Amino acid sequence: MIVAIDGPAGSGKSTVARALAARLGFRYLDTGAMYRCVALAAIERWGAEGVAGRLAPPLDGAEIADLAAGLQIELDEGSVKLNGQAVERQIRTPEVSEAASAVAAVADVRSALVAMQRALVADGDWVAEGRDVGTVVAPDADLKVFLVADPAERARRRAAELGADARTVLAEQAIRDARDSEREHSPLVAAPDAVTIDTTGLTIEQVVEQIAGLACDRAGAGGGDSGP
Ligand code: C5P
Repeated sequence: MIVAIDGPAGSGKSTVARALAARLGFRYLDTGAMYRCVALAAIERWGAEGVAGRLAPPLDGAEIADLAAGLQIELDEGSVKLNGQAVERQIRTPEVSEAASAVAAVADVRSALVAMQRALVADGDWVAEGRDVGTVVAPDADLKVFLVADPAERARRRAAELGADARTVLAEQAIRDARDSEREHSPLVAAPDAVTIDTTGLTIEQVVEQIAGLACDRAGAGGGDSGP
């Protein structure tokens, strides 16, 4: 069974997806970590300004896509390895967040990563989170959830997580949201058959319980080979 959890930054996706995977005994796929790995590798090779220059309009991105296709990315229960090196902390900096959303606009970067993601979820039970899991990576997912939350609430959560100023996070979030929603390739949109849940004012546990209930219903309705 595949449960797809999509939505913008700060909607609670990562925390919810991780907790849901633990609750259901499923494996967890963080697709955003893969875009972050490409961004980190690109910054290590060309520097942040070199990356920005390579992604300036008119967008080509061929060098970044070549780099992405050659990377070895391993994700395992919260550990993230890029070419054999543990990079969980390095991929969470503001610089990498910004570059990740920029490299994610390159069509060939997306196709390289989507191929890796599809290969991963081909077997077993998964909770996979991202922006395009329900629309592109796993359009046949048994359950698709699109999480949303009020922008100020999302920024407040991110700021608390990062120990940063909420107003700065809100401004950066608006730029990334616009880029994710307006990009030509796989823009951030809910799949037509996704269940949208507004997490503003809900606890993680409430959201997880709600989705776990939906997953049980789908499994009971014959939505997968193995139920939760
Ligand atoms: O989810 P996270 O914030 O870690 O993702 C980092 C960036 O990667 C996002 O801002 C988004 O632009 C991109 N992304 C994407 N498609 C995904 C997951 C992440 O475009 N499936």
